[in-house]
Amino acid sequence: MRIVVKVGTSTLAHATGRLNIRHVEELVKVLSDLKNAGHQIILVSSGAIGMGVGKLNLPGKPSDMPTKQAAAAVGQCELMYTYDKLFLQYSHTVAQVLLTGEDVDHPERRENFENTMERLLELGALPVINENDTIATAEIKVGDNDTLGAIVACCVKADLLVLLSDIEGLYTADPRKAPDAKLIPTVEEVTPEIEALAGGVGSSLGTGGMATKLRAAKMVTAMGCDMVITNGEHPERLYDIAEGKDVGTRFVAKAKEANG
Ligand code: GLU
Repeated sequence: MRIVVKVGTSTLAHATGRLNIRHVEELVKVLSDLKNAGHQIILVSSGAIGMGVGKLNLPGKPSDMPTKQAAAAVGQCELMYTYDKLFLQYSHTVAQVLLTGEDVDHPERRENFENTMERLLELGALPVINENDTIATAEIKVGDNDTLGAIVACCVKADLLVLLSDIEGLYTADPRKAPDAKLIPTVEEVTPEIEALAGGVGSSLGTGGMATKLRAAKMVTAMGCDMVITNGEHPERLYDIAEGKDVGTRFVAKAKEANG
């Protein structure tokens, strides 16, 4: 299977912006093992800005563009250094790919991206993708990595997109406010009723929320790719997810045959 895993800042970093070593080490171990088992893995990783905040000792997530972009430049280095080092323990080679919304809207650049991704996978590398936050201004950026994950999954014709988040999945109500909210295990169709269940942005350092996740689900399921939302605190659940078992919330692909 070709699997795109998107990991959010809330999983990768503590609220301080410093690396969550336990989460990242477990994630790298599971992804390496899934790759050893024959799956093709693409990681869409947030955390550049969050980790830059930690490394530069900034008081919190910056709101102005120059500081955000500066934090991303510092944090992206830290992120790739960490992945490179940890994946190497399992003899896997990472490749950094940074995109903006403009790149994937531009037919020629999009094709270049798709070709490079195919080649990287053929060569056995593990692409790690993020938005190019140091140059992406509001007009040209994708904006959040749930959407970026969906764009990547569509470009590479993935079988599965997994969003590792700070929430177990989609609930019947916001579980932070309604303790009796129930997890919805399977969504066959993102209807207006399902969309009405999405709240706003979740964590203090990340960007996405349930609304961006549902938009991602609509994009990928239309292209024949399943999408699962699960809590990034438990990367080992990726084993069960890859086997199609019930974990988190699975959005079922519309036209599986579209991917062969
Ligand atoms: N690209 C941003 C970063 O690496 C994250 C965007 C998101 O959290 O959705 O910090």
